[in-house]
Amino acid sequence: MRSIRFRCPRCDVPLTPRLRALELAEVLCLQADQTWLLPAGWFVRRDDPMLAGSYQAEVLPDYPWLLAPLPSRWVLLHPDPARIVGCCGLNWRPDEPNLVCRCGHEIGFGYGDCIGPHWYSLHASTVREEAVNDQSPPDYAGRLARARELVAAPITSPPHQPGRCLVMTDEVSSWDQALHLAELELACGGGIDDPALVIASPQLPADARLVVRIPWCQLVRQLVLAEKPWAENELPLAWKSPREDAPQVEVSRHRRRVLMTVWGPGSEWAVTMSLSTWADAWARLRGTDGESDDLDEADEPGP
Ligand SMILES: [Zn+2]
Ligand SMILES: [Zn+2]
Repeated sequence: MRSIRFRCPRCDVPLTPRLRALELAEVLCLQADQTWLLPAGWFVRRDDPMLAGSYQAEVLPDYPWLLAPLPSRWVLLHPDPARIVGCCGLNWRPDEPNLVCRCGHEIGFGYGDCIGPHWYSLHASTVREEAVNDQSPPDYAGRLARARELVAAPITSPPHQPGRCLVMTDEVSSWDQALHLAELELACGGGIDDPALVIASPQLPADARLVVRIPWCQLVRQLVLAEKPWAENELPLAWKSPREDAPQVEVSRHRRRVLMTVWGPGSEWAVTMSLSTWADAWARLRGTDGESDDLDEADEPGP
């Protein structure tokens, strides 16, 4: 499989881990709020036919490389607050790049505010280091067919509300207030137009299930691309189903622990899981228990 690592054109430091070219249109999110435009670990060119007719095809033609938001060990926000401030998150203004390399070189634009999907884009001058390994791509068509079958299941459990708790993603000491799920089983259902995750756990009351709405694009990222089902707590994996009453969901990792927060109309709760409990539940749902098609681990930036 081919992968590309983007590097700074001025100092040559890596700006991204190794990323693969996105080919599966189902995993793009061109509309939903608070959801990454594309999965971590992948890139897409702004002029790709998959983006034709979208907002992304119209803006920032000098910044053709689109990726998911990256934590600050790769790319930094511009030090000038006027370039980054939005009403609830990172926003941008024309002609004022808001992402910089650690050397200070302005290399991109990023968006993480409240309307529409979140993304980063890199300038055409970024250096692209290509690599090819002899792994063959996983059977995406087979996995997609399986995901469609899984999501077709009806959701019969009423959504359980574990009770409000005041948990802040970036205050790890507050995570102890969330309900801890020592064991859990994941299912999904509801149909492609309104999918949800259904979480069963012995730590919930008998027969109670957590029901978490998730956009189809996000579910495909997890089930077909086997995207990591979390991100660092500095920049959590986020999604929001396009349904109007859908809550915002964030999944973040700190060391060996994962926090899921859910808040929106009528829902405000959080649960924690161990990293392995959460990862294993996803692997069982995908039916890829024990397999891995991660790029090898050397995706940390150099010294
Ligand atoms: Zn640099
Ligand atoms: Zn806002």
